[in-house]
Amino acid sequence: MRIGFIGLGNMGAPMAANLVKAGHQVTGFDTAAPMPAGVTPAASAAAAAAGAEVVITMLPNGAILRAVAAQVIPAMRPGAVLCDCSTVDVDSARAVAAEATAAGLGALDAPVSGGVGGAAAGTLTFMVGGTEAAFATVRPLFEAMGKKVVHCGASGAGQSAKICNNMILGVTMIATCEAFALADKLGLDRQKMFDVVSTSSGSSWSMTAYCPAPGVGPQSPADTGYRPGFAAELMLKDLRLSQQAAGAVDADTPMGELAARLYATFVEDEDGRGRDFSAMLPRFEKRHRG
Ligand code: NAD
Repeated sequence: MRIGFIGLGNMGAPMAANLVKAGHQVTGFDTAAPMPAGVTPAASAAAAAAGAEVVITMLPNGAILRAVAAQVIPAMRPGAVLCDCSTVDVDSARAVAAEATAAGLGALDAPVSGGVGGAAAGTLTFMVGGTEAAFATVRPLFEAMGKKVVHCGASGAGQSAKICNNMILGVTMIATCEAFALADKLGLDRQKMFDVVSTSSGSSWSMTAYCPAPGVGPQSPADTGYRPGFAAELMLKDLRLSQQAAGAVDADTPMGELAARLYATFVEDEDGRGRDFSAMLPRFEKRHRG
């Protein structure tokens, strides 16, 4: 397939490389990042999109997505599909899909889970919103870049699934970290804590797959000084998107709201920026009640 790929940063570059590896013809554009091997550079986003059957975007936020979409939609050929894999607000996802549809294009929101490691290994999970027809067109590309793809529903459903998942993740990571800090003060050995909780009702992915305590559980960013992984500021971004969405539909999400506040403090007022989101554990370790 002929693919335009816009936004070749930490995630986009390895994803585009996997498309090249699968035999697709990829033309790329990024305002700053270098092109990965095998990707033909274009002079602009519109030039990368012209003639492509599928245009993939992997950009920092909704405002940039809207600006790029305004450039590429008029350049795309009729019937082509605009597939955004960035994590953005649900409103931007739906607005871009509506513009693409009005221009006679297919449109998908297809955010990913799995991080830079998953992007490089081709093991991402894609959660997708949009029509059956657009989904069918892009499916082989999702399979080249990931190991799991779920068609969640109409436009915006992919972003909705992503922010709900990451709201759970933010909350469970905080809960796991504060429980480890409490266990420390109660004199409980961390390995014993892991052995019990990872096989009990308090278990979650944060404990079993991404344990925030160094030297305990499988290899995780805690074992490399909390080098991200999934940076605290990206978790903050996703928690804020969840709260923006909750506000828009009048949903009561007190735990998500508190998680967003704690990550905001951690990133903006403490030493959280540039550290993995599981570095909440050393944060709680240092703190006292009240
Ligand atoms: P990144 O900052 O490394 O990459 C974004 C790229 O977009 C950059 O190379 C930047 O130069 C480029 N860009 C910005 N404006 C542009 C424009 N107008 N035209 C063309 N290119 C432009 O970010 P990333 O880590 O690759 O994340 C991309 C998206 O994926 C974000 O929405 C993020 O939330 C999401 N995401 C990231 C991770 C992760 O672990 N990094 C995991 C899941 C989802």
